[in-house]
Amino acid sequence: MSETVKTIGILGGGQLGRMLALAGARLGLKSIVLCPDPESPAFDVAAEAFIADYDDEEALAAFADAVDVVTYEFENVPAATAAFLAARVPVRPGPKSLEISQDRLAEKTFLAGLGIPTAPFRAVDTFADLEAGLAEIGCPAVIKTRRMGYDGKGQAKIAAPADAAAAFAAMKGQPAILEGWVPFEREVSVLTARGLDGTAVSFDVPENEHRHHILKFSRVPAAISEATRASAVQIGERVAAALDHVGVVAVELFVVPEVGGERLVANEIAPRVHNSGHWTESACLVSQFEAHMRAVAGLPLGAPVRHSDVEMENLIGEEAADPARFLAEEGASLHLYGKAEIRAGRKMGHVNRIRPRRDRGV
Ligand code: AMP
Repeated sequence: MSETVKTIGILGGGQLGRMLALAGARLGLKSIVLCPDPESPAFDVAAEAFIADYDDEEALAAFADAVDVVTYEFENVPAATAAFLAARVPVRPGPKSLEISQDRLAEKTFLAGLGIPTAPFRAVDTFADLEAGLAEIGCPAVIKTRRMGYDGKGQAKIAAPADAAAAFAAMKGQPAILEGWVPFEREVSVLTARGLDGTAVSFDVPENEHRHHILKFSRVPAAISEATRASAVQIGERVAAALDHVGVVAVELFVVPEVGGERLVANEIAPRVHNSGHWTESACLVSQFEAHMRAVAGLPLGAPVRHSDVEMENLIGEEAADPARFLAEEGASLHLYGKAEIRAGRKMGHVNRIRPRRDRGV
């Protein structure tokens, strides 16, 4: 099967698509990127660019004809687009990964169905639903739109019942989910790659620090116990198998302290390579991007061995204005996304800083 995949179509042209195409090129795979934005960073490194909307069937048909398999770099690929392409060419990951991760209610229901702990949650369509949910779950809580939220957008915290009306109004009539507030101590994630044959491998678990709702740092190893690390990996692999996922999937997890230890609470599934996995480029023999391309091409996944301790720092907006300073830093590897314009809050690049693994006593 692997011999037949030479060209991979990537839906979405952001930095994740760019890094997928770069990793594919190292394996001799060509990438063709489809994205509506003519300034897409992934176009610079793709063999071919399709500038088209995701519902442009003529362009999608030509794109499908030009590639052996289609993947995506964002989870909000319209279901109709994925179905249109899937009738012509394999789409990996498949429809279940998209369906579950596009809707926070479906996602939490799916996780709970697998016996993976989540925050308590309730569907909220009306203000009465919110009042009833708050009566059961209590405050503090958080209300989120079911669809299209990212980086803290489409969310409102409800510290006390008096905040409920404003929080409900912030949903602007969209279907929402109410979640109990999780008193977490830290945030981690697990990145699992699953192959066509169902084999799964997981990367080590990064600890993630956000600023203004945007990921700022991922550090490995995370300050968690070995048992917690192993249980995160188990969650990643159970999610990947239950989705029948092909490619990389990330699960964001809260670490909650409890008497005598800590427990994990799952928050979100991203059916794709993830910002909290960018450190794998510098600290692992096979990066998350390469693992994803291997999986969708039907190639062996290899082992995502981590050879170094690492910190990934996202460069946001003006932080990327003086790249020379990172280039001059010892032990640092700079990755810029080639975005034409610096804008506040925009992810412009990242730096990976590696050190020898402490646990190996080097
Ligand atoms: P999300 O968009 O679901 O990834 O949420 C963005 C961020 O909001 C998370 O990384 C957490 O820091 C915080 N957050 C989201 N949901 C909860 C929750 N139920 N309890 C506590 N913090 C939350």
